[in-house]
Amino acid sequence: MENTHIIKGNVIFTKTPQKFDLYENGYIIVENGKVKLITSALPESYKSFPITDYGDKLIIPGFVDLHLHAPQFRNLGLGLDKELIPWLEGYTFPEEAKFKDAAYASKIYKMVVKELWKQGTTRAVVFSSIHKDTTKLLFDLFIQAGLGAYIGKVNMDRNSPDYLIEESAQSVKDTEEIIKEYINKSDLVKPIITPRFVPSCTSALMKELGALAEKYDLPVQSHLSENMAEIEWIKSLHPECTSYTNVYETYGLLRQGKTIMAHCIHNTDTEIELLKKYRVFSAHCPTSNSNLSSGIMPLRRFLSEGLPVGLGSDISAGHKLSIPCVMNITVQMSKMKWLESGRQLAPLSTSEVFYLGTKGGGEFFGKVGSFEEDYEFDALVIDDSDLGDTTLSLEERIQRYIYIGDDRNIVDRYVRGKLITEPVF
Ligand SMILES: [Zn+2]
Repeated sequence: MENTHIIKGNVIFTKTPQKFDLYENGYIIVENGKVKLITSALPESYKSFPITDYGDKLIIPGFVDLHLHAPQFRNLGLGLDKELIPWLEGYTFPEEAKFKDAAYASKIYKMVVKELWKQGTTRAVVFSSIHKDTTKLLFDLFIQAGLGAYIGKVNMDRNSPDYLIEESAQSVKDTEEIIKEYINKSDLVKPIITPRFVPSCTSALMKELGALAEKYDLPVQSHLSENMAEIEWIKSLHPECTSYTNVYETYGLLRQGKTIMAHCIHNTDTEIELLKKYRVFSAHCPTSNSNLSSGIMPLRRFLSEGLPVGLGSDISAGHKLSIPCVMNITVQMSKMKWLESGRQLAPLSTSEVFYLGTKGGGEFFGKVGSFEEDYEFDALVIDDSDLGDTTLSLEERIQRYIYIGDDRNIVDRYVRGKLITEPVF
């Protein structure tokens, strides 16, 4: 058995949202980057293989971020007393325009990739900007870092500032150039079709993007039903469609099991049925949704109806890249939703939000986000000795880490079985 390596420590993961799977002083046998076996007692036949013993530390799956905007890194913490449209116009668009410049993009994108590494986000689904060449730079940095990602060059050909608008045919041409160059370049970093959102793409452009997704069998990401004013705007832009979700469907952008929609806060029952039909992943972004007073996604409903959901930092509408931070705010907002719904939509438990930030979002990448057999070994090693009593139960220790721990507690990071050290750019 080549490439077999054993990792020992206090293993915590979630096979299902309902409960943590815990192995105190457990062993994970990793073969060719994948989990072969997880066990409390090492079988005799594996005793000759190399072991990395992490002692009393916690070993958990790497975090998965299903929605973030890399060019907005410099805007973190700015303008968050606004709502969506004024915030886009005042902060987001002027900053994104700077990514035409390779030197500026290189500087900021290096910071983003390093920060994702630091925060333990081993897989991310990322928006760049409209700019082709600097989007390629972002692909190269992720590949160099050894982190997993889907990266999308953003498309926008209407209702955007003059300095951030594309000519429709050029937008399609640039997108296809990136696809051809990166579709087979790396096993871990892949392209994703990325119309910014309906208001910024003409019907003709959306149709072309749907066709590209079909031609190269690519996933798609965008935004859906974030804000009431946005939804009203879409009604006036697309009288030919029955709903916001139906606009994406009409133009071939809901691909079976291969589409992520960020937010999904204000969908109608019919739209939720459509999301279910296409098995659309929702990226729940609670920090962003509270910062921009967008609303609270009916997450409990999505989960009980079996829709796939992961978590998104949505920087810089979200103010932190940390997925544990998104996890604890998900619990907090679900409690507000519970009260608001007359105690109908039950709040989420710690194991449920942990599941969403690991296996829930990881499903978009395949067998990622868990330590079950055959899952890719993406892992973080957590030293929580400075957070308090380590004689507590493993469940209490992971709960405490999610609420009060941070990147300083992460001592090692693995992606597909490989130890990933800090990117040197
Ligand atoms: Zn977003």
